[in-house]
Amino acid sequence: MEFAEQVKSSVDIVSVVQEYGPRLRKSGNNYSGLCPFHNEKTPSFSVSATKQFYYCFGCHAKGDVINFVMEIEKVSFYEALKTLAERHGIPLPKRSQYADEDSKLRGAIFQMQEYAQDNFRANLNGPLGEAARSYLAKRGVAPATIEQFGLGYSDRSGRALLRILEQRNFPQAQWEQSGLLRKRDDGTFYDYFRNRLMFPIHNESGKIIGFGGRALAPDDNPKYLNSPETPIYRKSAVVYNLHRAKEAIHKEDRVILVEGYMDAIGVTAAGFRAVVASCGTALTAHQVQVLKRHSQKISVNFDPDAPGANAAERSIGLLLEEGMQIRIVELDGELDPDEYCKERGARAFQERLDSAEGYFFWQTNRARKRHDIRTPEGTVAVLKFLIPAVQRIKDQWERLAIAKQVANYIGIDGGPMLGSFLKSVAAREEAKFAAPGEVIRADEKGLLNVLLSDVDGREQFVPELRKIEILNRLLTGRIYQAVLAIQASGSRITFDAVNARLEEADQALLARIVFSAGTDGHEADLDYGHQCLESLRRLEERLRSSELEARVKQAERAGDLNEALRAADEDGQRKRRAYLEARLKQAERAGNQVEVSRLNEELRRTERSAGGA
Ligand SMILES: [Zn+2]
Repeated sequence: MEFAEQVKSSVDIVSVVQEYGPRLRKSGNNYSGLCPFHNEKTPSFSVSATKQFYYCFGCHAKGDVINFVMEIEKVSFYEALKTLAERHGIPLPKRSQYADEDSKLRGAIFQMQEYAQDNFRANLNGPLGEAARSYLAKRGVAPATIEQFGLGYSDRSGRALLRILEQRNFPQAQWEQSGLLRKRDDGTFYDYFRNRLMFPIHNESGKIIGFGGRALAPDDNPKYLNSPETPIYRKSAVVYNLHRAKEAIHKEDRVILVEGYMDAIGVTAAGFRAVVASCGTALTAHQVQVLKRHSQKISVNFDPDAPGANAAERSIGLLLEEGMQIRIVELDGELDPDEYCKERGARAFQERLDSAEGYFFWQTNRARKRHDIRTPEGTVAVLKFLIPAVQRIKDQWERLAIAKQVANYIGIDGGPMLGSFLKSVAAREEAKFAAPGEVIRADEKGLLNVLLSDVDGREQFVPELRKIEILNRLLTGRIYQAVLAIQASGSRITFDAVNARLEEADQALLARIVFSAGTDGHEADLDYGHQCLESLRRLEERLRSSELEARVKQAERAGDLNEALRAADEDGQRKRRAYLEARLKQAERAGNQVEVSRLNEELRRTERSAGGA
């Protein structure tokens, strides 16, 4: 047994937590009390004795007993482990070993990023880094800032990291997986980043997981190149600079969101520490959830009206859905945040932050510039303009409250117009038919809860799950992949085992799922598991069908009748098969043997004709 596991199994999280102050009361299978990590008057901190895990519904702090000690004593993993071991009389081994292949690979990839970082930094300070240094000087980045953000330079040889990984004896099989090297068709390797200014990207605990590289030659494309996805770098969950900003974010209870690396660096250098960057692309639901864990208030510092601002628009949509309180920071003079801080100074930027309007007021003001609200038509036009944004707020009460405020703001505090505005805002299409990956669906959540419960026979779902291809598109996709991997390795599916395989963002997701009333009032039993599985199957069916329908239409437009027919056939076959399978399940459950064999025969015939087509 790994040492950490040994410690975790010999101490009780409930008593460890109480040693640090919080009084816990038993409620059901869990204990709850006031959260030690944030100020509160009513308890939202829960500890599960069976899962040896804590979670706070207020500030979303979460983890096992080791995390708890790390968090509360602000110490490293090793130190927390040592503290616990010593306090409970468990002898410390000389060195703890990480045996499983996953951890080994991840460890190696982390190590490779460190070597790369050393190389990039040495380059920047040496003769090779002259162009990069002068670029930074031109942008007004001070040496201390370069140091603080660990900026570097990747040389143009294309062999620097190749040589380093070779010398350090990393096996070739790991080279490409590090995201630092690429393989040519002839099997040889070359550096992924060449002649670029390098920005290390860290995870929340401050370890380097990848890089962003800015081209220095004007004709080098793309201008910004990021590490490809690797086992340690998941783009959709990473927020740039969060590990440095999070303390300030907690203190100020506000995130400042900017677009690029240089903006985050420039604004931080000007003295604003709660800054993170989305790195030019639209935020993902994952990233928004990560931010939300630290603060619900966000000051968005990019212009949703700028050309090509679809990304900004989409980001704001997601922030609204997650119930974040958004302020829009507007900078004049067409300056980006970095330039603004340098040209106008920190005080001017602070003023922009302070005077930033709440998103809905900002939107209303925009609409008012276009429509005359002294006329009823103008008022209706303004309200109509606002409806889509207000409707993105998930919580109904919040939605209505915002709607009232906005109406009030333009001078409507009663009457039929307010009534119908509120009505149209209240009628929000519920997320029941949400596409996978946008929200956590009830079925994906429910089935996970069954899989993580102690119901006998829950393993039967695993082979069925392997057949569902859309699993990866779900918000919980990586959690399901962890479940499948654990089953494949022959281990028992437990909360701990699943949790250990996840990145931070997914761990938070898992905690939310486990501690929320995850089965919407259903028992987490086999029956409910079957229902959820069935619902996922239907979702897959619908998606496949609509994809095929789209292919038919596309082929029609392109005038390709053969392809249109092929896709239409495939769609028909698929529907037929799905129908037969559903009937078969019913018949099996009813024990109708005659029907079962008849349906099986039909299914075989369908498969054969599909194979022949
Ligand atoms: Zn808390």
